Amino acid sequence: MTGTDTRHVLVVGAGMVGISTGLALRREGWAVTVVDPGPPGGETSSGNAGVIARGTVVPINPPALWRSLPRILAGRHPGARVDWRYALAEARFMAGLLANATPARCRRSEAALNALLDGAPAAHAGLMADAGEAHRLRRTGWLKLYPDARTFAAADRERAALARFGIDHAVLDGEAIAEREPHLTQRFSHGLWVRAAASVDDPGAVVAAYATLLTAQGGRLVSGRVRALSPAPVAAHLVDGRILAADHIVVAAGPWSGDLLRPLGVRLPLGMERGTSRLYAARGNAVLNRPILDVAGGYALAPMAAGIRLTTGADFSARDRPQRFRQLSAAEGRARILFPLDGPADPAPWAGSRTSLPDGRPAIGRVPGHPAIWCSTGHGHIGFSSGPTSAALLAALMAGRPPPFDATAFDPGRFA
Ligand SMILES: Cc1cc2nc3c(=O)[nH]c(=O)nc-3n(C[C@H](O)[C@H](O)[C@H](O)COP(=O)(O)OP(=O)(O)OC[C@H]3O[C@@H](n4cnc5c(N)ncnc54)[C@H](O)[C@@H]3O)c2cc1C
Repeated sequence: MTGTDTRHVLVVGAGMVGISTGLALRREGWAVTVVDPGPPGGETSSGNAGVIARGTVVPINPPALWRSLPRILAGRHPGARVDWRYALAEARFMAGLLANATPARCRRSEAALNALLDGAPAAHAGLMADAGEAHRLRRTGWLKLYPDARTFAAADRERAALARFGIDHAVLDGEAIAEREPHLTQRFSHGLWVRAAASVDDPGAVVAAYATLLTAQGGRLVSGRVRALSPAPVAAHLVDGRILAADHIVVAAGPWSGDLLRPLGVRLPLGMERGTSRLYAARGNAVLNRPILDVAGGYALAPMAAGIRLTTGADFSARDRPQRFRQLSAAEGRARILFPLDGPADPAPWAGSRTSLPDGRPAIGRVPGHPAIWCSTGHGHIGFSSGPTSAALLAALMAGRPPPFDATAFDPGRFA
């Protein structure tokens, strides 16, 4: 333990991002408390596709967004839908998405996301080994499937980025796809196999195991919901009246982060990309060897310990609006053509919200105006992947050390 052991940090949120942050800070000698009303990994970090998405460096709003916009706005895009009331209410976020869909801005985000994701598979492999969960990690990459040459050509930006950053991948033809995934029941003309990616067979269990590792290393988990934060003296006020004091606070509350930051005057343009998932049994002896993305269909299928998980794309709508699962029903119809799915293997569909920022990069660092309040949020589609590398960045910043990669791209103050 170092001399920093007397410094106490309170992390709000026990998802992948918060627990990873706790582990990184604990390793540096901080006294760590993580507070959450639910079990670790019980929210967004549980129902996702479990892809450690090393190659996902192109943000959701590349310049090609302009081409897909008419379909999205007309409600005809399978991977993205927009609720108009939400778009008007969150105009800063939605307009920011469009303003960032330029070649120069997209390139800047690609470089930043490449740095953030570079060490993700290795960081997870290390943590899973330490947590005794190495068996959950698959190094089989992930496979994106294109029905025709036109759809494949439209994804040229992604392939260019993979090549530019030297990220291990291969382009497959229909035969090579069938060799790797023999149980697919639909033919595709092209596949992009991102070999550098990895995946896990139960994302929620991985976060729970990381949380157990944190407590074994001396971290503390507290069950409670934070109502408000006070910046000086630094403390979290819980809804049940308890007050948790600390030297520093990290807000890692996923889609709820804005609720705690806004009253402090921190106005990050955090938007919601809701998503749903459901587990199915596979028919007969059908197996999937890696997560796959039906690019034209706008959904993913990921093999899990408990079945095959179907996950949907982005639904830009209010976090707390009642879920209607229309995207999931449409995706299920398409997925049943692609793979022999049997009946559901879970009692009900799952729903969560990716929280995102207009430039596609999370906000990691000190929040403007409050020296002892930090945040790590807005991880969008890659928060499960990048929890540990985000934590490494934040731990360096909090220690006053040079960051492992350019921190300015993630500065929470960049929207001020
Ligand atoms: C359908 C879908 C598929 C996805 N697939 C992938 C994927 O394959 N790979 C990938 O990398 N990412 C994926 N993602 C994104 C990923 O799931 C998220 O980016 C990630 O889980 C965010 O983690 P988090 O810790 O920030 O948030 P969360 O996991 O939501 O954790 C936040 C925690 O904060 C707690 N909290 C909230 N408010 C308070 C409060 N007031 N007081 C105390 N605690 C509070 C919550 O209870 C929660 O436990 C997917 C997302 C969706 C929706």
